Amino acid sequence: MKIGVLALQGGFQEHISALRKLDVDVCEIRTLRDFIAGIDGIILPGGESTTISRLLHETGLFRPLKEHIDQGLPVFGTCAGMILLASEIQDDPVSHLDCIPITVKRNAYGRQLGSFYTHARFEGIGQIPMTFIRAPYIASFKDEVHILAEVNGIQVAAESKKILVTSFHPELTDDLRVHQYFLNKITA
Ligand code: GLN
Repeated sequence: MKIGVLALQGGFQEHISALRKLDVDVCEIRTLRDFIAGIDGIILPGGESTTISRLLHETGLFRPLKEHIDQGLPVFGTCAGMILLASEIQDDPVSHLDCIPITVKRNAYGRQLGSFYTHARFEGIGQIPMTFIRAPYIASFKDEVHILAEVNGIQVAAESKKILVTSFHPELTDDLRVHQYFLNKITA
């Protein structure tokens, strides 16, 4: 299995390390050529969604990426990656991929106090550590979306078909189970 990690900006290196620990082939996706080379799934990392969005347009990756995800390429978006995959972003004009019918709120916990660490239940896994950094949350979602985790009654992880999104950063903890969950979705 070969997983691409979008490596335009943000925390892609930590995802690459996590995937290597799980013994999968990893490649960095920076250009259309990298993308076309063929992958079984892709991770969109955290970072600054406005910057990643601009770079996706500049590299010409935006449209092919959306088309492949819409056609079933498995994708896991963390934080800014989740923002980019959402169908709607509350009160924000950032150009996004519109792949999963959720509305997200950027910097939803406030800009300064928005970073925290907690533990909560993730469906199918159990209690996991969760690191939030200026995180978005899911403000609303359509019926076809399955919620996988909540913190204080607020949805922070979800899936629909082959799309997985988390507000938090599993790649910043030693716990590899959310990455393993994504790999299992690909092979399921
Ligand atoms: N606040 C960032 C954004 O809105 C996301 C932060 C992150 O990915 N850790 O794009």
